[in-house]
Amino acid sequence: MGMSAGYYLAKRGVRTLLLDADDPPHREGSHHGETRLIRHAYGGHAVYTDMAIRAHQLWNDLELLAEKQLLVPSGVLNITDPALYSLKDRIPKAAKRGVRTEWLKALEIQHRWPGIRLPEHFEAMYEPAAGYLRSEACVDAYRTLALAHGAELRTHTPVHGITPLQDGVVVHTREGDFAGAKVILTAGAWFRTLAPFVTLPIRAVRKVVGWFETTGIDYQAGRFPGFTLHTGEGTYYGFPDIGGGGLKIGRHDTGLEWQPGDPIQPFGSLAEDEEDLRSVLHRYMPGAAGRLIQGAVCKYELTPDEDFMIDRHPLYSHILVAGGFSGHGFKFASVVGEILSQLAVEEQVQLDLRPFALSRFTQQTASVSSKS
Ligand SMILES: Cc1cc2nc3c(=O)[nH]c(=O)nc-3n(C[C@H](O)[C@H](O)[C@H](O)COP(=O)(O)OP(=O)(O)OC[C@H]3O[C@@H](n4cnc5c(N)ncnc54)[C@H](O)[C@@H]3O)c2cc1C
Repeated sequence: MGMSAGYYLAKRGVRTLLLDADDPPHREGSHHGETRLIRHAYGGHAVYTDMAIRAHQLWNDLELLAEKQLLVPSGVLNITDPALYSLKDRIPKAAKRGVRTEWLKALEIQHRWPGIRLPEHFEAMYEPAAGYLRSEACVDAYRTLALAHGAELRTHTPVHGITPLQDGVVVHTREGDFAGAKVILTAGAWFRTLAPFVTLPIRAVRKVVGWFETTGIDYQAGRFPGFTLHTGEGTYYGFPDIGGGGLKIGRHDTGLEWQPGDPIQPFGSLAEDEEDLRSVLHRYMPGAAGRLIQGAVCKYELTPDEDFMIDRHPLYSHILVAGGFSGHGFKFASVVGEILSQLAVEEQVQLDLRPFALSRFTQQTASVSSKS
């Protein structure tokens, strides 16, 4: 989110300093592991579909500038056990905004994608124009282009304090203090380290993903779609086998809480890291339940309602906050960067940001302070 905002600001000619505790793209936050789904037919607030459409356009623009493929239009198949979870209300909402979907029964799904095995009553909503993003390449593209437009980047420079001034802000780092007219905070799973200046109800959670060897051609990129899978076992998502690297699968629900500063247990520390993913593949995509090729650990940062937080600091309107992307934010990183740049230069934002207001949480859970 920060690299994208940095790019859109620098492109406007705004003098921009990017500070990161690490060296993005990296493997400590929420954006690594090769791929992220981009879907448009969202449930919940209508703004998500509007944002996904705009985000998709911006990713396409970024691809042209970066001269590499970042968004692979594989289609995304959203499979569900309708007894547990319905996706049907998404179809008219999506259609209203020009997003095409197809409603498929289990037998049609198996006919079209022979690698999938489903109980007869399962259904799916297929989004043919959806796909996946090469997430680390996206972050890298924004970084390169932001710097090309004159942004300055300081890596391995954690911000450990913020002092708001009436007409500006000073951020404190080991390397010294930096003063600016405005600041955008996009600290991912580390928002807690910015307390008490900003205290948000964000819970960071350890997530695991695995890449499993596949047999035959049914799961190969170009044939197999990205997918989500809502079943009695849990909610999963995944990606086709890209170049023999294995079918990647992760679980959206569950996960152990993680606090900034704590070590994070690597993939495989818990027996269920692999077992849980393998058992669901074995059941629904049996030819993709082969050898584990690799596993990775990543972080979600969950808000209580899993909607994002994109807003101005209530006490200091020149300080912007964007966090709590709750395991579904990457697809929007392009448009979130654009939105943040518009807010920073006081330009009208065309999207409805009310669902992302910090004020939706009570005083007990979301607070802001003038202390640095
Ligand atoms: C396993 C997994 C699968 C996912 N799948 C999808 C998907 O399919 N589709 C989708 O849309 N989304 C998905 N997401 C969610 C998406 O990846 C995240 O919502 C998104 O990456 C969040 O971006 P961010 O910029 O907030 O966090 P990050 O990318 O983690 O960036 C935060 C940055 O802030 C820096 N930082 C933190 N604290 C400080 C500080 N004090 N000073 C300076 N720098 C600091 C960090 O070093 C880091 O570089 C997934 C996430 C995970 C973990």
